[in-house]
Amino acid sequence: MQKHSDFTQYTEVTPSAAIDPARHGWRAKCLQRLIRLDLPVPKTVALPCDTVRAIAAGQMPDIGGIAARFDGVLVSIRPSPGNPDWGGPNTVLNVGMNGDKHAQLARDHGQAFADATYLGFVQSYAIHVARLDPDMFTAEPSAEALAAALAAYEAEMDEEFPQSPAQQFTEVMRSMARAWEGTTARLLREAKGAPADAPLGLVVQEMAQAFGPGLSGRGTIQLIEPVTGAPQVTGRFRGLKPANRKAEETLYLVKDKRGHSLEEAAPEVFAALQEHCQICRRKLREEMQIEFALENGALKVIDAVRVQRSARASVRIAVTLAKNKIINREEAILRVEPRAISELLHYQVDPRAPRDRIARGIAASPGGASGRLVFTSADAQASAARDERCILVRRETSPEDIRGMHAAVAVLTERGGVTSHAAVIARGLGLPCIVGASEIDINQRDKVLKTKDGRSFREGDVITVDGTTGDVLAGQAEMLEPALDEWFTTLLHWADNVRDIGVRANADTPDDARTARMFEAEGIGLCRTEHMFFDEDRLTVMREMIFADTAKDRKVALDLLLPMQRADFIALFDIMAGLPVCIRLFDPPLHEFLPQDREGMRELAEALDRPLSEVMRRVEALSEFNPMLGLRGVRIGVTVPEIYEMQARAIFEATVEASKRGAAVVPEVMIPLVSAKREVELVKMRVDAVAAAVRTATAADFDYRLGVMVETPRAALRAGEIAQHAAFLSFGTNDLTQMTYGLSRDDAGRFMSDYVQQGVYPEDPFHVLDEDGVGELLLMGSARGREIRQDVTLSVCGEHGGNPASIAFCRRLGFDYVSCSPFRVPVARLAAAHFAL
Ligand code: PEP
Ligand code: MG
Repeated sequence: MQKHSDFTQYTEVTPSAAIDPARHGWRAKCLQRLIRLDLPVPKTVALPCDTVRAIAAGQMPDIGGIAARFDGVLVSIRPSPGNPDWGGPNTVLNVGMNGDKHAQLARDHGQAFADATYLGFVQSYAIHVARLDPDMFTAEPSAEALAAALAAYEAEMDEEFPQSPAQQFTEVMRSMARAWEGTTARLLREAKGAPADAPLGLVVQEMAQAFGPGLSGRGTIQLIEPVTGAPQVTGRFRGLKPANRKAEETLYLVKDKRGHSLEEAAPEVFAALQEHCQICRRKLREEMQIEFALENGALKVIDAVRVQRSARASVRIAVTLAKNKIINREEAILRVEPRAISELLHYQVDPRAPRDRIARGIAASPGGASGRLVFTSADAQASAARDERCILVRRETSPEDIRGMHAAVAVLTERGGVTSHAAVIARGLGLPCIVGASEIDINQRDKVLKTKDGRSFREGDVITVDGTTGDVLAGQAEMLEPALDEWFTTLLHWADNVRDIGVRANADTPDDARTARMFEAEGIGLCRTEHMFFDEDRLTVMREMIFADTAKDRKVALDLLLPMQRADFIALFDIMAGLPVCIRLFDPPLHEFLPQDREGMRELAEALDRPLSEVMRRVEALSEFNPMLGLRGVRIGVTVPEIYEMQARAIFEATVEASKRGAAVVPEVMIPLVSAKREVELVKMRVDAVAAAVRTATAADFDYRLGVMVETPRAALRAGEIAQHAAFLSFGTNDLTQMTYGLSRDDAGRFMSDYVQQGVYPEDPFHVLDEDGVGELLLMGSARGREIRQDVTLSVCGEHGGNPASIAFCRRLGFDYVSCSPFRVPVARLAAAHFAL
């Protein structure tokens, strides 16, 4: 092994030392700040990252200089990564401990203390440095346990436990340097945003020995409760009470009914600790957890780290620091990770509670819920009618399951990806949902769910869906409540003041619209009207309309649907109180409204009073080989114009009605799945005619805006000529992604994880907008549209509208707004503010 001494630069951490976080890491810099704040920090030395890197590469520094600085005392060696969130190898305490030191400690402080200290060091050295099996080194302290640990070490390593402090130093540093370079550690920190060559420094510090005749021990303290972020002194303390030094007694940090506490035993120390936390808070501008030791009554501050916090606590802490003028509002906004706040909007499986995971899938809609298993939508409804919470499990869901989904508290599907039917609907409803759980095997007939490891769950068994992590758990899990509190609202208002792209919600029902208002969306960016036709009373009329042989018969059915649609729109307009509402005309293939199985067809034949054979023939005739590319969207509008005419009439009549009693409504009417200019011209002509007719009939005037959904590559390419007839262009990036890739949004979930794992796609393109391909179409489409019509409103209303990276992209293209599921609106508001700062 090479020996180098020239790269072993180390710096004693003093107020004036040149400690650079980029070179020495975050912890070294933080300790220097604590020293500058006059906190009682023991002697500390920082090793720079280049030295640690050289150690990992096999060079070994001459650590003689460092060892000499700590001659005869025990030290701790801690990681000092470039960023506190990047983790790091385990700290090793009491380096320098050996037989001589053990004897000395026994003389000065008693055998038990000496044995415990030495055993602790041997255990951590064996596990973290020599990488021996942890199970061999878990014994509670005693003289025998120490002897056994030393013997086990020798047996495994064929050498005596190292006695030279210099050798211990060297080995500890080498193992920490190498652990940092390991693949797992690298992947974990890269997931937290660390660069591939993230630096690690090391910090060597004289151990504050928690013993002596006076009160001694170790602990941590912080001023904040970590789950809620409420002010509350929390932490722990473990020490020896002077009166009873033989038996180590756990002292609580704060006064506690269960036993003695540091607060009572040493109120002045307790007060000093709080004061130290306050100083950190003011000067380091952050809630810090202080790690301390009491050495024979004297307080030492060993370290301070950001208080670990839940998403909920992070919001409250940031807002409180800003309100206390310790940081400004912009900084408060930037301190909260947008993705994390979706946790606050739902019940969450308590991350602290034990979990019995039975399967994993794609986390498609966040939040947690426990309930009884049901396998059909009818059973879900029956269960809801009994006031029993149920979880709907399906191979995949179809529009017919919508009522079952409404009745369930969570949804689990074996198939599908992030834009599958189940995922989209669940996000809209705010239901926890896992899709693509391919490890489970569902037997619909026997109503049994089998897991990969052979466990069976039957109808009525309780399971938990954790839609935030994608875990399916057995039994009932402990939950945390949603937190739409004053801190959350305040932070989002601050975010609204700085962001420069609008945020609307995709909302189909009055409930969705109310949720959208609650989350302060600036309007509805997409109302998928077809979802209004799945309610029981309407489905039958809808089917009658589909089965009508003549235009006259069809009109009879549509006349029945008209007042229902009108009422839907009035409700939406009323709730949205003058905010823009963008209504998309009918989009899906008609066969989605028809039953697929024989039983359903028999029921339909009865309801329509037609022979079963005719119903079957009709269903067969409407079925398509490739329905997503078939007769749907504007193609229905062009070929069966009465449906769009009915919807336009309902929209305009509702406009007149709602405007009478509230703010003037200017509805936005949106045409889906356009691929040619002529489609827009035809629909526009008819919608204009309906508007004129309604104006005449009601003697009321109103405006409306007609726009186009850009969901086919051709619409993006021809956006210029399309914009001649469109006041707005809304990019439906779900279909646009499907068609650009030629990738079925309902089936891609089956192999998406393989594709991402093998690096074919960097991410699931239905989840994070593919900027290179689909993004190029957005770029061209928006530029071409704006060239012809400068004031054309541009937006995205696919699922990507709620994804922070995709919002950043839309903002760069100068889009006016994004529209996403109501439950993602807060995330979008905060993310948009981050990008504007
Ligand atoms: C889209 O395609 O992006 C879209 C918003 O429409 P839907 O998801 O209803 O097809
Ligand atoms: Mg679409």
